Amino acid sequence: MTATAPAQFKITYTSADVDWELFHRQFDAALARVRGQLGRDYPLYIAGEAVRSAAESIVDRSPSDTAVVLGRFAAATHQEVDRAVRAARVAQAAWAHRGWRERGALVRRAAQLIRERKFELAAIMSLEVGKSRVEAMGDAEESADLLDYYCQQLEDANGFVRQMAKVTPVEHNMDVLRPYGVFACIAPFNFPLALSTGMSGAALVAGNAVVYKPAEEAPWTGLKLYEIYRDAGLPPGVFNFLSGSGPEAGEALWRHPGVDGVVFTGSKAVGLRIYRGLSTGWIKPCLLEMGGKNAAIVMESADLDAAADGVTRSAFGLQNQKCSATSRVYVHERVARPFLEKLVERATALRIGDPTERDVFFGPVINARAVATFERAVAQARREGAILHGGQRLTDGSLERGYFLAPTIARLPLSSSLFLEELFVPFLAAAEVAGLDQAIAEANKVEYGLTAGIFSKRPEEIERFFDEIEAGVCYVNKRTGATTGAWPGAQPFTGWKGSGSTGKGGCGPYYVAQFLREQSRTVIEA
Ligand code: NAD
Repeated sequence: MTATAPAQFKITYTSADVDWELFHRQFDAALARVRGQLGRDYPLYIAGEAVRSAAESIVDRSPSDTAVVLGRFAAATHQEVDRAVRAARVAQAAWAHRGWRERGALVRRAAQLIRERKFELAAIMSLEVGKSRVEAMGDAEESADLLDYYCQQLEDANGFVRQMAKVTPVEHNMDVLRPYGVFACIAPFNFPLALSTGMSGAALVAGNAVVYKPAEEAPWTGLKLYEIYRDAGLPPGVFNFLSGSGPEAGEALWRHPGVDGVVFTGSKAVGLRIYRGLSTGWIKPCLLEMGGKNAAIVMESADLDAAADGVTRSAFGLQNQKCSATSRVYVHERVARPFLEKLVERATALRIGDPTERDVFFGPVINARAVATFERAVAQARREGAILHGGQRLTDGSLERGYFLAPTIARLPLSSSLFLEELFVPFLAAAEVAGLDQAIAEANKVEYGLTAGIFSKRPEEIERFFDEIEAGVCYVNKRTGATTGAWPGAQPFTGWKGSGSTGKGGCGPYYVAQFLREQSRTVIEA
């Protein structure tokens, strides 16, 4: 296989029908190539030029083994942020002028390049953020599909140009959606390619220029996205790459007066900070996708094996570091015992280790801060309830140099604050409920509203769940992941309440239009 061999199959987060032997061979080859590139120095890219920064570089280490330095990445300061925003402003006018068909063709070319490079991209993500092979490949495949889906949105809407009604016979009325200008795009670590690609791709195809800052923990993946857009033929300055810290580069970026809008995915705390500070002279678009504290509900009628499978996958896939992860489970008191037994059985069977290895399901968490959060939650759970499984850091053999934690299940009283706080570590809080009323009331208590799942065979319970649950992405009886696994064009990914700002999410049909503003054009016949 070469680095640019065409895709032979597609892997989503829940794929089953795959030639796994072929997949693993191709992954092994890509991993070997990528390992051959470790430890290099990387600059920023502004207007197509490599730019150094005076600040100390970010040392990008693997969370699986912190002795492994993946690379050293320039850290942008406010000077480089200023330069990048100015470059983006210069490039944007010509980019918008090119027209949506041409922009769409270039962005579709980027989707194709992602597919050609998907093994290399997946190997990098596995090393950089600790994704299992399948999770990493799902991230790469989703990225390509997001770009195609957003291009399709523009094509289906005829570039968002539409003829309008006449009020008098002598007038011609058009409605046109036009780009805002320059978007700051700020991404989290956990889906380092898919979220970066989805946010930036929608902004770009709509005719905006982008200044992009990846998470501190995932600059290598972010740089690969820069290379993809460059190689697809995007003009210099249309997409600028700034690795750097949140408080310095990120803060300077969204505060820059030359930024016309912000698209951000990350924690609620940072998202709200941006929202409150962004609009001063006038209101700027602020598309935020934020945290989650997602509940699964298991009713008396549920298939308990399906429920245990679905909760295990969504609670412990990517070590619970998905915004859509199941972090709470409310189980009907009449089936609590057998369900929790099945859950512990499955958690015990999970293969834990270096996530770049074949068939490892569960890797490390992202950093020392996550380990500290986990240890605090476990200590609180021991005081308030009981740990049913896990509860410790894993340090055997080579795990010692990584951030490995045991998948953990805690039985807690409903009053525990561990049901309310987003932890983003492999910690599942479980409680018994008397029925659906109580389950939904408990599920809705949080400030978040991203995903939710129920296992039930009763149509009336399912209908009530859809009607009453406060969440944007809802699943019923999903054995492959109780609350996870959304895909572009299939499950729009909208956060309600503290999980989002616009009520229209990525992966959904209304996403691209949010990067555009309306202009009504009336011409009176002379
Ligand atoms: P984070 O909020 O710590 O960081 C996200 C990005 O913001 C990073 O690039 C970071 O450098 C930057 N940042 C930090 N402080 C900043 C500031 N003051 N100004 C500008 N930028 C700043 O989040 P994280 O730890 O990378 O990711 C985990 C969080 O993201 C979780 O809360 C998770 O639920 C959420 N998330 C949400 C979705 C969704 O679609 N709703 C998807 C993935 C992750």
